Amino acid sequence: MKKSKCAPHVPFSNIKLCGAKARQNNNKPCRQPAMANGRCRLHGGKSTGAKTTNGKLRSSQANYKHGMYTKEAMIERKRMQLMMAWRKEMLNM
Ligand SMILES: [Zn+2]
Repeated sequence: MKKSKCAPHVPFSNIKLCGAKARQNNNKPCRQPAMANGRCRLHGGKSTGAKTTNGKLRSSQANYKHGMYTKEAMIERKRMQLMMAWRKEMLNM
């Protein structure tokens, strides 16, 4: 029997979709088939991300905006919440 050169048949319902937020199509999620990292070729599926330490640092610095979600800021907010809860508890005693 001759082997087919076509890709094996995969039911469409088994194909994982990209799901990235799309600005076209009335803001519905992207329906392109996903690549290994879960996104389609247009939404970062081809990207493997920064590999070197220097590259990761550069990426981090390029995307830094206000520091609201840095580890230090989140710990500080949590500490203040706990302090306020403790203060409220002490006033109600
Ligand atoms: Zn996509």
